[in-house]
Amino acid sequence: MVTGRELLKNARERLEQAGLENTAMEAAELFALATGTDCRSGAAYGDALEAETDDKLIAAVGELTERRLSGEPLQYIIGEWEFYGLPIKVGKGVLIPRPETELLISLSKAWQGERRSLTVIDLCSGSGCIGIAAAKHLDCEKVFCVERSEDALMYLEHNIKRNGVKNAVVIKGDVTLTQTADSLPDADLIVCNPPYLTAQDMRELQKEVTFEPEEALFGGEDGLDLYRDITRIWSKKLKPGGMLIFELGIEQEEDVAQMMIQHGLKNVRWRKDSFGKVRCIYGIR
Ligand code: GLN
Repeated sequence: MVTGRELLKNARERLEQAGLENTAMEAAELFALATGTDCRSGAAYGDALEAETDDKLIAAVGELTERRLSGEPLQYIIGEWEFYGLPIKVGKGVLIPRPETELLISLSKAWQGERRSLTVIDLCSGSGCIGIAAAKHLDCEKVFCVERSEDALMYLEHNIKRNGVKNAVVIKGDVTLTQTADSLPDADLIVCNPPYLTAQDMRELQKEVTFEPEEALFGGEDGLDLYRDITRIWSKKLKPGGMLIFELGIEQEEDVAQMMIQHGLKNVRWRKDSFGKVRCIYGIR
């Protein structure tokens, strides 16, 4: 007889042998997925660990473990990931929300102060994690989530509904085109986590990241293409006193600060994330 616990141990060992890092957590997530339980809460998961397994479950855990061993990100296998405490559906065709990106929301909350009924624009919205967190955690009149990828749009629409957000609208459009900006009202806050990896970064991607869409990762030769277009086109869309805030890649702060200043933004500042890396930059119109 094979218990759930033994099956879990076996999956963990296989992940470990392949050199993966968070094997305890990852194996628990895969086992939970196969048993339809939640490894972070509830007795059902514990029951499944003690219970005898059958061929079907053994095969299911084996198959999920294989997918993970092939390099597929755990988040895609599970199909949902948390961002700022909110459930976000993810999968092939959309970027996985990263914990560092939560800094954009924290800084936006700090900036909000006494401001009310904000008009917010989330550019390169992808899964919608930023726009949805803004709608949930800021006092927003409306949040416009701009995305051009058909694949990502499906996740975006789903995630807005999944989180019960009523004041977010999806705008299918290219953020590098002036006409997209022209179709939207002026905003108090524009948030954006653009693709920012360089050509060199793209050649050295971690296996997991190669499963994510290139469109969401690659920012041109020096990684800065989207910052150039966005500061040029969207700085003008801010109301006076409004803020443009970006996530940044490694060592991009000085170049992006220059672009923001060149396009008339003031009080340009950058901030580090909890890992000590400069991660966000903002400026005020
Ligand atoms: N806004 C999404 C995120 O932060 C997608 C960003 C992107 O595709 N570059 O996860």
